[in-house]
Amino acid sequence: MNEKQWPPQIDPQRIAEIGAEAKARAEAKAAQSAAQSDTVANSDDDLADIEKRILARRSACAEFEASFRATLQTNPPNTPCPRHPGIQVPVDVQASVLASWQYFMDYGERKRRWVLELCPVCAEIAETAARRAWMKAAGVPDILLDASLANWTPRNPADTASLAVIQRYAELRRGFLILISPGYGNGKSHLATALLRIHGKGTFRKMYAIMSEVRAGYGNGKAQRVVDHFSRTPFLVMDELGLTSGGRDELPVIHEILDARFSAKRPTVLTGNFRTADELEPIVGGRMYDRLRAATFAVVALTGPTERAKLQRDYMAD
Ligand SMILES: [Zn+2]
Repeated sequence: MNEKQWPPQIDPQRIAEIGAEAKARAEAKAAQSAAQSDTVANSDDDLADIEKRILARRSACAEFEASFRATLQTNPPNTPCPRHPGIQVPVDVQASVLASWQYFMDYGERKRRWVLELCPVCAEIAETAARRAWMKAAGVPDILLDASLANWTPRNPADTASLAVIQRYAELRRGFLILISPGYGNGKSHLATALLRIHGKGTFRKMYAIMSEVRAGYGNGKAQRVVDHFSRTPFLVMDELGLTSGGRDELPVIHEILDARFSAKRPTVLTGNFRTADELEPIVGGRMYDRLRAATFAVVALTGPTERAKLQRDYMAD
């Protein structure tokens, strides 16, 4: 049981609100009947009566709360989770008192209405499923759905320093973060996904996938809508920059997306297999590259050995 919620209290604010609502309703009714009638209603007496009834109700409510509290102490509900029989489902005390009081108000019967919290294990399972679902919808590959900063292990002191920089960006979430490494499997996509997960909403795409989606829109007039989506998504991971087949439209499309994000200061993570950030220049264009340099929080070069063995294990495990 949550110690902080003990002893249970009916929120005095809520009691006052219920009283005020009842009083307002009664006053409105009195005013209406006074307006309809030729004789002046004895409204002062009526209001005094209402006041008295509210006070009586308030004390009944406090009494009820005290009796509820006593019941919970001597005879708490003993409900195990149907899925995890070893776990007692905790009582949501505040909600139980309110629900029981409401039942009494509705039916005039003093009955304990237990409102239970979700089993902590069930709550965690539901949370994980919901998080995986939105990340999948955001375009995160299956193999990265559980990626987080916590489950990325630095392999050398340089990695540890890189992780600290990435953690600072996770707090700031403004401008660009560029993650580079000379090869694959150094954790760029893992770390970029972890940042998207922290942000809570946004989009993950490999650069070639962005181009494919835009090109699929040329025939049906939806290309601009696709570009706008990547420009406006609250957090964009553009993965594997430069790994495309090229094409004359590539530079203008990538430029438009990045320029829109630059202007709106929307957080954007770029990853690529580069030794230095300068290799981005031909991909994004000279003008955009100058802007990027002004708007980049950090260029993080991941130098540790590849995680290919681990990636293969993860892949084969599913
Ligand atoms: Zn459970």
